[in-house]
Amino acid sequence: MNENHGCSCAQQLAQGFAKQALDCGQGEIYQTSLMSALLDGVYEGDITIAELLKHGNFGLGTFNHLDGELIAFDREVHQLRADGSARAASLQQRTPFAVVTFFQPSVTLKIEKPICKADLHRCIDQQVASPNLFCALRVDGLFSHVETRTVPRQERPYKPMLEAIEAQPTFAFQQRSGTLVGFRSPDYMQGISVAGYHEHFITDDRIGGGHVLDYQLDHGRLQFGVIARLNLQLPHDADFLCADLCPEDLDCAIRSAEG
Ligand code: ZN
Repeated sequence: MNENHGCSCAQQLAQGFAKQALDCGQGEIYQTSLMSALLDGVYEGDITIAELLKHGNFGLGTFNHLDGELIAFDREVHQLRADGSARAASLQQRTPFAVVTFFQPSVTLKIEKPICKADLHRCIDQQVASPNLFCALRVDGLFSHVETRTVPRQERPYKPMLEAIEAQPTFAFQQRSGTLVGFRSPDYMQGISVAGYHEHFITDDRIGGGHVLDYQLDHGRLQFGVIARLNLQLPHDADFLCADLCPEDLDCAIRSAEG
């Protein structure tokens, strides 16, 4: 790792690489529904937060009716809503799309210099042996800035996600401590999940955050681990059965919706 990137991973690189090879395959990602279903307006799922927690207490997603962003870690599940409010999610709430795991980081790095989103991702990419496996990542620290969005609650008849988020509120946080939870998915997963990095953020006072658009970390701790197993739970309600899950513009639509 180049020192200019502000990441202190140089010495650990070789060590981390070897460790990844050993550690991958231990954890499992549990996912409900598909990103393409969410894009097509499948906004109601049967899986409760209580059920989700049986499969993982670390991850991200959304809530039924597309009612805000979900972030989970340390057994906390939070709902970040479009009106800027945040609250602890109840065990009875349901999700139409969520990705969780029991986080088992195999690499922990102290970040002592400011690092932008792209360089932090590069730091992980350089240490993970292949782009063809999943990574779960967590960043705790002081962020110079974080830009997020949250999705606005929808009612039937549901609009496709790109239309639903046209009026999505964005939030800018400056010099805020917080936690970022994310996954890196292989490119071949586009549509099933989000290819590349997908990250959610919450402030340490738990009152703000959302789906991450951009950030710069001032200093903090980066943890990540490779995951080689996916448990995909598909819905079988009428909305899902009738959804168009393979539209021609899928890649472009996901980049617009999740970028
Ligand atoms: Zn998101």
